[in-house]
Amino acid sequence: MLNERMLACGKKSSVIREIFEYGKKRKNEIGWDKVFDFSLGNPSVPCPQCVSDELTRLIRELPPEILHGYTSAPGDINVRQSIADYINRTHGVKESADNIFLTVGAAASLTITLNALVNEGDNVIVFAPFFPEYRVFAEKAGAELRVVECTRGDFQPDLDKLERAIDKKTKAVIINSPNNPTGVIISDKTVKRLCQVLKDKSSQLGTEIFLISDEPYRELVYTESKPIFITSCYANSIVCYSFSKSLSLPGERIGYILVGSECRDVRDVYYAICGSARCLGYVCAPALFQYLIPSVLGKTSDIEVYRKNKDILYSALTEYGYECASPDGAFYLFVKALEDDAISFCERAKKYELLLVPSNDFGIDGYVRISYCVSREQILASLDSFKKLYEEYKK
Ligand code: PLP
Repeated sequence: MLNERMLACGKKSSVIREIFEYGKKRKNEIGWDKVFDFSLGNPSVPCPQCVSDELTRLIRELPPEILHGYTSAPGDINVRQSIADYINRTHGVKESADNIFLTVGAAASLTITLNALVNEGDNVIVFAPFFPEYRVFAEKAGAELRVVECTRGDFQPDLDKLERAIDKKTKAVIINSPNNPTGVIISDKTVKRLCQVLKDKSSQLGTEIFLISDEPYRELVYTESKPIFITSCYANSIVCYSFSKSLSLPGERIGYILVGSECRDVRDVYYAICGSARCLGYVCAPALFQYLIPSVLGKTSDIEVYRKNKDILYSALTEYGYECASPDGAFYLFVKALEDDAISFCERAKKYELLLVPSNDFGIDGYVRISYCVSREQILASLDSFKKLYEEYKK
């Protein structure tokens, strides 16, 4: 007898992957330049030159037993120290290398963190729309996923609804800014108010509520204001960071968990992270990519390419009449579907070879996500299809 939950999870492929597979088939039928696939969030801009230069140097200079060997389970201490120094310099906080755990990307950071915190029957709160894997990660950790909707239009977390959703069993709240799928940054004012709600609620209920910040898009920002660093405004906070998107290295699987130094019982929280990573088999993140980190902290791929893609798409789509959330970062546009049923809207979009992701799996209906980390040619060639799709609905 297999584990029924795992079997069900493995059988149900993600909607995004299904659309991507459809896209590949369709491209083979009618030509690669005729299909406008906006499904995957796979960075299209190459990693910066400093990544290739440093990797080449490391391969040439490090002895093989270091280059390909195990590091200590939470990651090389010098690498963790360089991350702590960088965070402290950049965000004016006092974090410690002892509270950093290197991981294989944000997905592992989140899974490890949730398994470290959650006891069976706890709940974890997310704001819709949210990255669909949160449900898989939270439920596997034994939590109930509670969904609190953002306010429509600006897509900021609705704090009144948050307050009502918290109870004695609430173990954590996850935020993601800039957000997948909306591209919106949660304003500093909202983050501070959210932290106040968590402080008030935990002292009222006599519980500890953790704030988890999922940050694969932290550096992909197109506005002046960067997302606030959560350890500076909430004690029980944990950052789940990834280099996948900022450095265009999603296949290399590298990121880290930072437990805020002000966390209550910080050593125990960190030990629980170590235990969880051990139980899940996520120790010793890839050594070569650990050693790369000190020289690339704060660097990004050329995000001007994404900015330009966003500007072209956003202004064209809004000019045609579509309603879009105004994106501050990441590489997604969240667009109101032209009928209530987003799945049926996406089916109709296929007539114009537009492959869009319906919002249902992100926790709300009636929108589509467009990943604009694609070639400029695809963006420009797709505009006519978006226009025709809009006109078909307005006829
Ligand atoms: N969190 C969000 C919001 C994401 O969009 C993604 C990937 O698309 C992840 C986590 C997982 O990132 P990683 O590739 O670092 O595991």
